[in-house]
Amino acid sequence: MFKTSAVVAITDEKCVGCQRCVSVCPSDALAMNGRLAVLDEPRCVGCFKCVEACYPYNAISITASPNPTTLTVPEDDYEQPSVDDLCAKARYAPDAMVCLCTGTTAAEIAAAIVDGVHVPEDLALETGVRAKCGMWCLQALCACSTHTAYRWSAPRRTTASIPTAAAPTSASGRFRTRSPTSTPNTGSRKTWPPWKTERS
Ligand code: SF4
Ligand code: SF4
Repeated sequence: MFKTSAVVAITDEKCVGCQRCVSVCPSDALAMNGRLAVLDEPRCVGCFKCVEACYPYNAISITASPNPTTLTVPEDDYEQPSVDDLCAKARYAPDAMVCLCTGTTAAEIAAAIVDGVHVPEDLALETGVRAKCGMWCLQALCACSTHTAYRWSAPRRTTASIPTAAAPTSASGRFRTRSPTSTPNTGSRKTWPPWKTERS
């Protein structure tokens, strides 16, 4: 969920056509029209990444949004079995917060994907995810999209790609990053990680 409170405006006279703003916009709200950047205002989520990108030229200003909106997926949509199924495949609890900046949950992302969102830019518009740091949510987005008809990125290894049978677990059943059968931790830094050699 992300609440928009402002939109941006471009001053044509100051725009030098560098395209920096276009490349950082998470919701595809900016495009080039010849030498000038143009804004598709309904697609702007008010993240201000373009304002930062245009800092040298100061061609983008912030204005209060005439229609503040909340970007979120209706909670009723979370209840679908297909949403739970997609969350399970991506190894996220449905109520897990996958975006610390916007508070977006795995269920919101899964529900949007199940609803037909099939590009990351539309997911930002639907849920607000990717509208801030765009870093912590990436693994969840990759994990969810890997299990749908759409693939947003080349296959890559994440913790979600380790088969359950192969994932070492602790006595409590929680995922461990280190096997209990690997080099025992004697408390000495010299024994871990194993590829490091001891200093003489
Ligand atoms: S970053 Fe600024 S100067 Fe560059 S294209 Fe966008 S609006 Fe124009
Ligand atoms: S404020 Fe964010 S969403 Fe709006 S145009 Fe700029 S980069 Fe795109």
